[in-house]
Amino acid sequence: MRVALLGIVHESNTFVNEPTTLNKFKESRLLFDNDIILQYKNSFHELGGMIEVLETNEIEIVPILYAEATPGGKVTKEAFDFLLNEALTRIKQQLPLDGCLVVPHGAGVCEAYDDMDGYWLSQLRATIGDEIPIIGTLDPHANVSQLMIHSTDAFVAYKTNPHIDQRDAGKEAASMMVDLLFGKIKPVQFFSSLPLIISIEQQFSEKNPYKYLLQLSAEICKMDGILSASILLGFPYADVHEMGASLIVISNRDREIGNVAIKKIENYMISNKGLFVGTKHEIASLINKVNTIEKPVLLLDMGDNVGGGAPGNSIYLLDQLEDAGIKNTFICIYDPVCVATLMDVEIGASVEINFGESHEKVETRERQVTLVWKGHGKFDEHKPRHGGQIHFDMGNIAIVKTNNQDVVMLTSLRIAPYSLVQLTAFNIDPTSFNAIVAKGVNAPIAAYAEVCKNVIQMNTPGVTQADVTQLNYKKRRVPLFPFENE
Ligand SMILES: [Zn+2]
Repeated sequence: MRVALLGIVHESNTFVNEPTTLNKFKESRLLFDNDIILQYKNSFHELGGMIEVLETNEIEIVPILYAEATPGGKVTKEAFDFLLNEALTRIKQQLPLDGCLVVPHGAGVCEAYDDMDGYWLSQLRATIGDEIPIIGTLDPHANVSQLMIHSTDAFVAYKTNPHIDQRDAGKEAASMMVDLLFGKIKPVQFFSSLPLIISIEQQFSEKNPYKYLLQLSAEICKMDGILSASILLGFPYADVHEMGASLIVISNRDREIGNVAIKKIENYMISNKGLFVGTKHEIASLINKVNTIEKPVLLLDMGDNVGGGAPGNSIYLLDQLEDAGIKNTFICIYDPVCVATLMDVEIGASVEINFGESHEKVETRERQVTLVWKGHGKFDEHKPRHGGQIHFDMGNIAIVKTNNQDVVMLTSLRIAPYSLVQLTAFNIDPTSFNAIVAKGVNAPIAAYAEVCKNVIQMNTPGVTQADVTQLNYKKRRVPLFPFENE
């Protein structure tokens, strides 16, 4: 038997102006054929889990294409057309196939298609026909559409956030494919799109309300005839019709039990929707807390969340900490302009510099900095971390120390803070700081929890700000809680 592996992954923030080009996929991941297996076999990514299960069951793996770019603005039509054309051309060459395992993120938006994942999955279905099963994984931040469901046989979402169980989700999806091919099961997919969104800070799987939702889905999975139950939290920063929470349940043959299971979770979520709004705390009071609790304190920059598509160049928290008299902070900022400048400076030399978003702002803050290190910013992560990647590339980087004793890592490629090796590989000791700023909401916790006992989510401004009622939506579905409280 032969099963194809195919993935086009992007989490698109439609409030970001800069589009995601093909070059952004090339800078992150654009892999074909056996390179997919080489890069992912031993990773904590879902592809690793899929490869393991197919190999164990002696099923021939047919790797087609895997493309992923760092979350950002909408994918350009040019990039998407290229990726889809490559995927479909290559899959046609591999027919006949027995099955296709797919990896969409679920929250991709293309300039030409609001429902990017639904579009490519429907094109895949049209290409391979109705007889070949398509089973896939989803990021729980997926904004799932009817077209995605209609085009596939089954989806399994990761459960944890930070996403440290991606390999397990890949194994679950691949095991379902194996059981289907061996005639042991016949998956039937049930889907419900809920009239609510879940605020980003309420999406941490080790705390309620999400923790309880996972318990509920685990109970559902014990019901006779249920193969899988997935809670899709949704990705609020995409102004598309599909944006919001949803549920997917897979039953075995049965057409009633799936609906019963969906209703159980749906009823709970709708009657308890107030739990999903969260509280936005005032920043100044949280900053003052830093001096009173055990260090280093992890400050999560929610408004400049790179994993949610934000640029990663805000110095808002750095300024706030400095103004509050707090020294010795670590922060990483995407700033290719500063990196290029610093490449011509000698290590140990002192220069005046403006970094981060100050490039575009009227009020700039000059900082006197000493260059500590410069060079290529590559590192590997081998522990289970959000995103499941092994290889990281920040492009050229420069590490500087400010007069406030803050250590600033400047990168020329955008990087989400998913690994402590990002610091330790460059001789930066994370335990030596008072505060560490990480540009994320929940995802960085998997990496930083081992050094930071105290974690504070900061309701900072930006394209991933926690209070989405402040964002200007035009295409979202109505009614949608908390925008409408019906
Ligand atoms: Zn996610």
